[in-house]
Amino acid sequence: MALVVQKYGGTSVADTERIRNVARRVVERTRSGDQVVVVLSARAGDTDRLLQLANEMSPDPDPRETDVLLATGEQITIALFSMAVKDMGSQAVSMTGYQAGIITDGRYGQARISWIETLPIMEKLHESKIVVVAGFQGYDDAGNITTLGRGGSDTTAVALAAALGADVCEIYTDVEGVFTTDPNIYSKARKLTRISYEEMLEMASMGAKVLHIRSVEFGMKYNVPLLVLSSFTDAPGTLVTKEDDEMEKVVVSAITYSKKEARITVTNVPDTPGMAARLFSPISQAGINVDMIIQGSGSIPGRANISFTVPRLDYEKTVKLAEKVAGEIGAGAVHSNPHIAKVSVIGLGMKSHSGVASKMFETLARENINIKMISTSEIKISVVVDEKYTELAVRVLHDAFELDKEYHGRLEIKEEVR
Ligand code: ASP
Ligand code: MG
Repeated sequence: MALVVQKYGGTSVADTERIRNVARRVVERTRSGDQVVVVLSARAGDTDRLLQLANEMSPDPDPRETDVLLATGEQITIALFSMAVKDMGSQAVSMTGYQAGIITDGRYGQARISWIETLPIMEKLHESKIVVVAGFQGYDDAGNITTLGRGGSDTTAVALAAALGADVCEIYTDVEGVFTTDPNIYSKARKLTRISYEEMLEMASMGAKVLHIRSVEFGMKYNVPLLVLSSFTDAPGTLVTKEDDEMEKVVVSAITYSKKEARITVTNVPDTPGMAARLFSPISQAGINVDMIIQGSGSIPGRANISFTVPRLDYEKTVKLAEKVAGEIGAGAVHSNPHIAKVSVIGLGMKSHSGVASKMFETLARENINIKMISTSEIKISVVVDEKYTELAVRVLHDAFELDKEYHGRLEIKEEVR
């Protein structure tokens, strides 16, 4: 008998019929002998609708009350789901975040789970009930309802799996798993059988929306195997798990992209200590996340050009801040480009194999795609290109690293091993 935490996303519980289908799957699973804790999202679109209501009510909705409101979305699905299970002749009990003992800090709208009191859920499991927990919510020390940030139900599920010592956390969604790249832009994208937490984190931070990034962090920290799969088919999903030797043999696992980026260059910054701090402090104080940064020499001796990228949403605000600082420190003009994209090659095998960067650059060069910026981490190489080349870059890189083949990279490794 296994203890399983299953999470179903908004599209999987979007209407009565789908809720009933999912309930049927869960009931079947328990009849095969497993104990199941189900974590549900709100029905697709409900959280957006609630947010819109809040904005209709108030120009600046109170954060505490916004969380009280948002938490109702998940309460709808856990109640309906539990009704469906009971109609199928099984026992179920719905639990809000509060009832399930999910304690968080007090940051409304972006709370972090600090502790889970597992006794209430354990008791219900011992009574042979299917426990149905509202995702995305908890409560703080003072008993206020909190929410975990958009997409937070994944994190509820993985945190519960860790706290309960579950054998696996299954994340059911509307895609069949994690793909080598976005299947919408390349039909040769292949579903991965397994991927490491580390690679998944890099993919999530690059905008692959399959999993909430904090859920992957939780999984990695507590070593909870995560299985990503579809609630609409019976296809085997993708297992996100800790790395092993086999995984390192795969040099490149995935190609990701993000179009929501913008680049800003401050020219001829005086090349003296403290200038970068002057430039980036006000930007970080404004809550803007700077990603890549490159410094090179300016057109005047003793001056430097500093280029960096920010989310496109923050583009205008950042340009204003950069222009202000540039004026104050006597730098030159500020150039900016909101039409860039970041394309990344991700793979655990990069830790031990060389040649990925050169292959990436050569592949892009062959297509005449100009690289504007480069950054690397231990298992990722990212380049900034003109937005219009995003799809082309993804496709040619996918081909070059043969990601459509199951054991891609093996042959190449033999040639490139140092
Ligand atoms: N319902 C929340 C949202 O839409 C949480 C979730 O679905 O994971 O963001
Ligand atoms: Mg989600």
